[in-house]
Amino acid sequence: MKTEIRLPLGLPEFEILKQSIRNQKIILDVRTTALPVHCPLCGFSHVKSHDQRLRRVRDLDALDKPLYLMIHVRRYRCLNCGEVFSESLPSVPHHKHQTHRLREAIYLRCQDTTISSISRQMRMSYKTVERIYYDIAGKKLSDTPPSSVVGIDEIAVRKGHRYETVITDILTGKVHRMGANRDTEAARSLLETLDARPVKTFVMDMWQPFYHAVTQLFPDVSIVIDKYHVVQKINHALDSVRKTCQPSLKGVKKGRFSLLKRRFRLSEKNK
Ligand SMILES: [Zn+2]
Repeated sequence: MKTEIRLPLGLPEFEILKQSIRNQKIILDVRTTALPVHCPLCGFSHVKSHDQRLRRVRDLDALDKPLYLMIHVRRYRCLNCGEVFSESLPSVPHHKHQTHRLREAIYLRCQDTTISSISRQMRMSYKTVERIYYDIAGKKLSDTPPSSVVGIDEIAVRKGHRYETVITDILTGKVHRMGANRDTEAARSLLETLDARPVKTFVMDMWQPFYHAVTQLFPDVSIVIDKYHVVQKINHALDSVRKTCQPSLKGVKKGRFSLLKRRFRLSEKNK
């Protein structure tokens, strides 16, 4: 007997064509239920079917498994201007690999827990979770004054080709400012627009330009170097020691692990 569970998708624009489970992932083949179509270039509504493309998009997990929509996206040709275009999908943002509701859910979870724990739970890369969080946070900047503890940090955008400065309230998790670049000037111009009167402490990593910007503008606040970033620096230092020692450590398994272990717990060989 074949057992099948049909779940309501809750995305009204789609109908489900097929459902399957592959490699512990739920895959739903879907297509839209004939939406009205207008040419994005000239606005004309007389269009002709052109072809179909498959687009893979992640949606909210179901039954504790990642769920992917394989969207059979219809493409049309405008009979007025000749433009070929894809139908627009209300539930999926342009050029993104997740549905709006999944992105919103990740953003909300980021306010209660860390990006790395969500990345583990969701089996999604750290960078992806981080990007989703700051994409949405950037649209919902808080304009109320911050609390007494504020963090200033950098995030990588465009796969690390560009950096942005982010000012976050450490106590409430709200993002107050975001702006291009991560130099002293960029940080200063963001900090200048912030009502920083309640702020007693700035938390930051060991990035000098942020330190300069904060101390220039607020010489009386205390500065805390964020533990996570200190640990990261130590890890990098350990990694480079291990890399230099690696040739002489032949036969020692898990070099980094041995460096982190206490000496008395090491086997004779790994000492
Ligand atoms: Zn057109």
